[in-house]
Amino acid sequence: QAKAAGRRTWRFFDPSMQARMQAHAALAHAMRLGIEQQQFLLYYQAQYDDQQGLIGAEALVRWQHPERGMVSPAEFIPVAENTGLILPLGRWILDAACAELARWQQHPESASLSVAVNISVLQFRQPEFVDEVLACLARHQVSPQQLKLEITESLLLNDDEMQDTINKMTELQQVGIRFALDDFGTGYSSLSYLKKLPLDQLKIDQSFVRDMLTDPHDRDISRTIISLAQTLELSVIAEGVEQLEQKEQLALFGCHAYQGYYFGRPMPATDFVQALIQPPTR
Ligand code: C2E
Ligand code: MG
Ligand code: MG
Ligand code: MG
Repeated sequence: QAKAAGRRTWRFFDPSMQARMQAHAALAHAMRLGIEQQQFLLYYQAQYDDQQGLIGAEALVRWQHPERGMVSPAEFIPVAENTGLILPLGRWILDAACAELARWQQHPESASLSVAVNISVLQFRQPEFVDEVLACLARHQVSPQQLKLEITESLLLNDDEMQDTINKMTELQQVGIRFALDDFGTGYSSLSYLKKLPLDQLKIDQSFVRDMLTDPHDRDISRTIISLAQTLELSVIAEGVEQLEQKEQLALFGCHAYQGYYFGRPMPATDFVQALIQPPTR
């Protein structure tokens, strides 16, 4: 017993860490296969505006694994980012979202909707990123005005890469693509950066919206983000809106675009089109 315990002290990794690393490697391996075998799909979650009603949807990736079932992106996106698998996966996501947008544009009732696609830092940092996005739009013949890219504040952390970020965003914005800053308020973007970026929208993180009715700090932060957006002449959308009272509070503060379970859950494209675009026929 004592010997075994003694030997254990020689291990470089503790067993739980080793188990985690193995689980991580197994997940990465399964993902590689899953990309080949087309186990990934996109769900769409509605975005609403007080004046225009349904304005579009955010594409959210899902992994339908044959044995594991539906795996959450919260679990596999970090692994995909650490292994570089986000590059082939991200390419597929953009392609699938543009293919869906092309279908929407063929029907008058959905022709004006936009689609928002989440872009990982590693994906954005690729030298080919701009060309890939442009090629994707051309391949599906969709109007760039209806594509929105969601980036996060982690893209703005590095001073050295700031100019590259601005250049890429500017190039894409010049053809009409819009940018939203996702999970806003949880990162570290400086206000001077925000001013320099060709952004279109701030997306209030759901953590502030969640408790805004009960926590005065979260309410004040939400209000502050809304007025910051107004100051910077950006549009603003709230995510994670689950209750009518949250929507009303946000509207009082001057935010008139929303996304969240109150308006609709993320759902497969066919359901999204049926539930939100085509009025039920009966
Ligand atoms: P996100 O981009 O901030 O997406 C919003 C998340 O909030 C989604 O989780 C959505 O299902 C969830 N949500 C929406 N409305 C509500 C609500 O009313 N209440 C609550 N409690 N949650 C709500 P999901 O789909 O699990 O995605 C988690 C995160 O994974 C995303 O956060 C995003 O960072 C990442 N992700 C998802 N799809 C993609 C993708 O296609 N590419 C990349 N790079 N990342 C993705
Ligand atoms: Mg997002
Ligand atoms: Mg978000
Ligand atoms: Mg989030």
